[in-house]
Formats: sequence, structure tokens, C-alpha cells
Amino acid sequence: MRTLTTATPIVEVTGVTKSFPGAAGSDLTVLDDINFTLREGEVVALLGKSGSGKSTLLRTIAGLIAPTTGQVSYRGTRINGANPGVAMVFQSFALMPWLTVQDNVELGLRAQGVPPAERRQRALEAIDLIGLDGFESAYPKELSGGMRQRVGFARALVLRPDALLMDEPFSALDVLTSENLRGELMDLWERPDFPTKAICVVTHNIEEAVLLADRVLVLSSNPGRIKGEVPIHLPRPRDRRSPTFEATVE
Ligand code: ADP
Ligand code: MG
Repeated sequence: MRTLTTATPIVEVTGVTKSFPGAAGSDLTVLDDINFTLREGEVVALLGKSGSGKSTLLRTIAGLIAPTTGQVSYRGTRINGANPGVAMVFQSFALMPWLTVQDNVELGLRAQGVPPAERRQRALEAIDLIGLDGFESAYPKELSGGMRQRVGFARALVLRPDALLMDEPFSALDVLTSENLRGELMDLWERPDFPTKAICVVTHNIEEAVLLADRVLVLSSNPGRIKGEVPIHLPRPRDRRSPTFEATVE
């Protein structure tokens, strides 16, 4: 079973609080005392309303922003700056419009100093994996929303991240496109050779949370706190594209 609490922790979030400076010198507390562990083999959904701090929490885990108090650890080591074990997929894709698909996908490898030939090879593999072959030379503006988000996935997966963080990855897509992409991602996740060991997905969509996750953490708003956790028991491997199964929720 993948969700045993004895499974090795990948990311640990301990006592994380985040405040932003507000008007008239008063601080806006967005996250309040967040504690949770992302373990090997699990998909965790963070479910909350708009404004509850989901993106702030995911960005904190990625090390893109620093918590006000508390800490984030990656495999037992407190991060200070970018989390070396994660890659992120963004709601708005966050592609570089002046770069081709190939160059967008290679960007992270370039930053890591991976040599050109290996960069190219790995990018082509990721592009192929996510169904973008033939679009290597296209620019983002020439692609549909679904294809753009495939580039977003390829750009993350090319890094072979230990943990994949996804911030509402399907919410900018129409229903059919998001169902397809979600299903393909879960097919990859079920593959034994898929290098990523855990997924954390942020969503405001309860159906998406239940379809994707092994457990759902529910975030309250103002400030964002983890109100509760719902384990999802579904048979594996599952056809997560079809919502017609019986979900049992404890
Ligand atoms: P969600 O992703 O759940 O919709 P966010 O994490 O984007 O929520 O935002 C939570 C709250 O934090 C919102 O009230 C937002 O306005 C505020 N916020 C987010 N980022 C900043 C920032 N850089 N500066 C000030 N306030 C911010
Ligand atoms: Mg958000």
C-alpha cells in the first residue's frame, strides 16, 4: 500500500506560517501553523477555496517564497531557497512565449548546467512522454491550452523530480481536456519506471481531489489552516478518468 505512514518522508512542512505586509502596517496572515508530510508513493491533494493560501503553501514548499515562521525540509534537510527535490506545474502554465516548446522544456536543465546533448535528449524524451512529439519547434502561442499545459508538465517532468507539485494544473482547461491530461498523468504515475515518488496537487475542485489523491488535506480560509484530512480508498490501478466508481471516504 502506498499511503502507509511508515513510508519515507520526502517533504516535511513544520509549523509553517506566512504573513504578508498589509495596509496600514497590519500583516495579513495567509498560512497559520501548517504541518504535514508528503511521503513516498502518495498523491496528496490540498483542497481549499480561492484565497485560502494554496498557491502560497505550494510556493513555500518549492522554496520560491520563505515562510515567516516554521520550516520546509526535503529528505530530512531544511531547505534554504529553492527546494532541490521538487518541480512545479502552474495553473497559468508560466511558459516563456519567446521560446519554442523544446527550449521551454530544456530551461530547467540549462539552469542545472546539464550539457546541450543530454539536455536535448532528455527534453525530447519528456516531450514524447507527454504527447507533444511533432511540436518541438512550435511556440506557446501556436498551441491550445491543453497543449500548453503539456509543455508545463514536460518542463517539470524533464527534471525527474522526486516530488511533483501542481498548482491547479487543470483548472484553466476545459473539462474534456483536463480529464484526458489528468488520466495520462495518472497512467504515468502508475508506471513502475516513473521517477517521481510523490505528488502534491492543489485544487479547489473536490472531484479532482478525490480522483487524484490518496488523501485530501482540507484548508480553511483566513488564515489558511489544515482543518482535516480525508483518506481516499480506491482500488489500484484505477481508471481515474472515469468518475463512475464508488469512492469510500472514511
Ligand atoms: P489560493 O491559491 O488558495 O487562491 P493564494 O495563496 O494565492 O490563495 O493567496 C492567499 C492570500 O494571500 C490572498 O488573500 C492573496 O491576496 C494573498 N497573497 C498572496 N500572495 C501575496 C503577496 N505576494 N503579497 C501580498 N498578499 C499576497
Ligand atoms: Mg492559487
